[in-house]
Amino acid sequence: MEQPVSSDFKLGIISGGQLGKLLVAAANNWDITTYVLDGSASAPASGVCNEFIQGSYLDYDDVLNFGRKVDAITFEIENVNINALRQLKEEGITILPDPDVLELISDKGTQKEFYEENALPSSPFRLFKDKEEVIDAINNKEIKLPFVQKLRRMGYDGRGVQMIRTQSDFDKLFGAPSLIEEIVDMEKEISVIVARNKNGETQSFPTVEMEFNPVANLVELLISPANISESIEKRAVELAQSVISKLDFIGLLAVEMFLTKDGNLLINEIAPRTHNSGHHTIESCITSQYEQQLRSILNFPLGSTAMQSPAIMLNLLGEPGYEGVVKYQGFEECLKIEGVKIHIYGKAETRPYRKMGHVTILDQSIDGARKKANFVKENLKVIT
Ligand code: ADP
Repeated sequence: MEQPVSSDFKLGIISGGQLGKLLVAAANNWDITTYVLDGSASAPASGVCNEFIQGSYLDYDDVLNFGRKVDAITFEIENVNINALRQLKEEGITILPDPDVLELISDKGTQKEFYEENALPSSPFRLFKDKEEVIDAINNKEIKLPFVQKLRRMGYDGRGVQMIRTQSDFDKLFGAPSLIEEIVDMEKEISVIVARNKNGETQSFPTVEMEFNPVANLVELLISPANISESIEKRAVELAQSVISKLDFIGLLAVEMFLTKDGNLLINEIAPRTHNSGHHTIESCITSQYEQQLRSILNFPLGSTAMQSPAIMLNLLGEPGYEGVVKYQGFEECLKIEGVKIHIYGKAETRPYRKMGHVTILDQSIDGARKKANFVKENLKVIT
């Protein structure tokens, strides 16, 4: 790879959503020239990168043509045309994380097989080709109700995941290839973001705890540090480090885990990129997850992940009942509160539960941050 910190070096970022936009902001600090590929000309990163290229990250030619313009490629999503990435790698373009690992991660079925083969804890599962196979397995009592069914590919933000509790839910069973796993009796959902560079240096951020909006099944509040014992924190970080090393992964990896009621940690899923559960690091940690992604893929020393302040992150979701050109209500009232940092992604249109921005709330205590977060939740509204 060419010396990356020079205006000549071109970093390609595949997909230009909010994670891509924030990654561009980090790259701008180092005067790295950024190219972004996205299907939508109004994608959040399109207005901040140096070169925006409209095209599909699932299309062979679009990815190939994009890749040939840059020196290195990284990602804000995992579903990319892998064959195009392999071709680009052969042509000498640096692709991090590696296409083979992306392929493994983009399929929840192969992810689960990887955990099993490497003795990494995750809930028991079975893979299915189609709906008929699932119904046969239920009838033959090979799987028991209730269970969770997940599409192997292309699910996100809880879409592509469903609970099947009774026979009346059979109509909604997914027909596409899926995996089925037991419903985990969990205490909490937590996440550890970990980075690794080519030198093998590894560094994790403190564990975060996720609280869900029960209706939208989207992460609504994210609390860091998580309210867990030191020993669970230590185990969670060790587990994340073990996953990244066993994958021989270079880049930034988010490891989502369940803490079960009986105190075990199970891996839920991993994401080979920056993550919603790491937004808060921009303000609360010495190094943000975006800078850490750059450091890891460019083989720079990894930055300190120490927290400078406890933080709560709130996703700004489109208010139910509103669809169309977006307005933000209550912006000024929230800006008056110390430690409230608002990020608006720049999506022109809102719809119910669409991720339109996030707010990081800093306070000396999590209790204090929670009070401020409740105010923001009540007062900052995404409407039309
Ligand atoms: P996505 O890739 O869409 O984020 P996940 O696999 O993370 O999907 O599942 C979304 C949510 O569904 C999880 O955050 C969790 O709340 C719930 N969930 C997933 N798997 C299980 C499980 N085995 N038991 C209980 N809840 C689960």
